Amino acid sequence: MSPLRIFNTLSAKKEEFQSITPGKVLMYACGPTVYDLSHLGHARMALTFDVVQRYLRFLNYDVTFVRNITDIDDKIINRARELGRRPEQVARQYTYTFWKDMNDLNADFPDIEPRATEYIQQMIAFADALIKKGHAYESGGDVYFDVASFSEYGKLKKQNLEDLMQGSRDQVRSQEQLKELKKNPVDFALWKSASTDDTGWQSPWGWGRPGWHLECSTMIKLVLGETIDIHGGGEDLVFPHHENEIAQSEALHGHSLARYWIHNSFVQVEAEKMSKSLGNFRTIQNVLEQYSPDTVRLFVLQTHYRSPIEFTTESMEAAKAGTLRLIRAARFAQDGGGPNGAASEADGVLQKLDHDFREAMDDDFNTPRAISALFGIADTIFASPSDAKTPGYAAALRAYAAVLGLTLSDTAKVIDPETGSGLMNVLLTLREHARTNKDFKQSDLIRDELAKLGIKVMDVKGAPASWERA
Ligand SMILES: [Zn+2]
Repeated sequence: MSPLRIFNTLSAKKEEFQSITPGKVLMYACGPTVYDLSHLGHARMALTFDVVQRYLRFLNYDVTFVRNITDIDDKIINRARELGRRPEQVARQYTYTFWKDMNDLNADFPDIEPRATEYIQQMIAFADALIKKGHAYESGGDVYFDVASFSEYGKLKKQNLEDLMQGSRDQVRSQEQLKELKKNPVDFALWKSASTDDTGWQSPWGWGRPGWHLECSTMIKLVLGETIDIHGGGEDLVFPHHENEIAQSEALHGHSLARYWIHNSFVQVEAEKMSKSLGNFRTIQNVLEQYSPDTVRLFVLQTHYRSPIEFTTESMEAAKAGTLRLIRAARFAQDGGGPNGAASEADGVLQKLDHDFREAMDDDFNTPRAISALFGIADTIFASPSDAKTPGYAAALRAYAAVLGLTLSDTAKVIDPETGSGLMNVLLTLREHARTNKDFKQSDLIRDELAKLGIKVMDVKGAPASWERA
């Protein structure tokens, strides 16, 4: 039995995690709608579910992690119109930038990454099946889910029908048009008719395209199955998106869509600060120009995923200092060498790290406390006398940091090309001085040592020496 406890949005409490099939986890997180560059909110959602799947794998679950790409949506079509481009181009461009962001943040790629446009025929079949079961109706070329036909509607958001009379994502039709088409204002579109010169597909109801909610329900069914273990997303997706996924899937299948619903909170960037010092931090790439991926991760994971984060330069600088401390601890312990420390003492330190880390993560993925455990071993490393360093400490620090996706990659001693060229100029100037002083032993030494590094020094009459890589 797993000691892992997860806060389930559906029950609004922490529950012991038990997967449908012992040892296996089927997990789906809603992916991006690819119409613009990703920002910190996207980074937080991606890192939250990256850490969830990493920790489940650390617990030896066989995880199938699926995250979709919503590559057809009103937002993409509107963006394409603005840019005078095809929606497919817009979707491809921002799929690429999303992948780059995820890769740069060291987020694992999902095991399966379905694109909505690959499942259009299955979406049509899904909507058709709902009509046949009496849960959906055609109206003016659109298909709507009949919310009144699903008695449990509102169970995720914990509101009844009357409270839910808002929140449609439809940006194409006017409110007046929708009033005429829908039986109930909360009914949501499974299929939206479109004019034939617009992006769309042929369906039993004419030319059109799928609604966003139907995309996820269909892809989950096709890729993972009718009931999955974990469904995740940002808290802004609870309603209407996830509520509607539940309505569609459960009305059709007659059993639950997901056992555990996990939702992460948002990133708050104070409006006033945003316009001043943080004006450049709109996108993930902007942030990564100034901070390392580990720093961004530490910043995000130092707050529990269900609490809001306020983005400030102070907190980013604090995260940067924290990251450097962990990197230095890992380096310090390795440099320290010999296993001279008392073995039993080392065992105790490593057991404590393992215990504290697991206890934190088992408590609804409490990453702030897990990070405290990492800082704990860093403190132990710094406090140990230098002749008692145990290499096991560094390995353990790196291993547990990796469960949170932190690489602790030590770039402090890596020279970038620009600095390298500057250093070459310093060496050639020193060699020139030696030659001027007729100290040929010294100048030859510099030339020969550089040759060993594969760098050839070329003397040119009447000009400074130049160099190239041999
Ligand atoms: Zn979704």
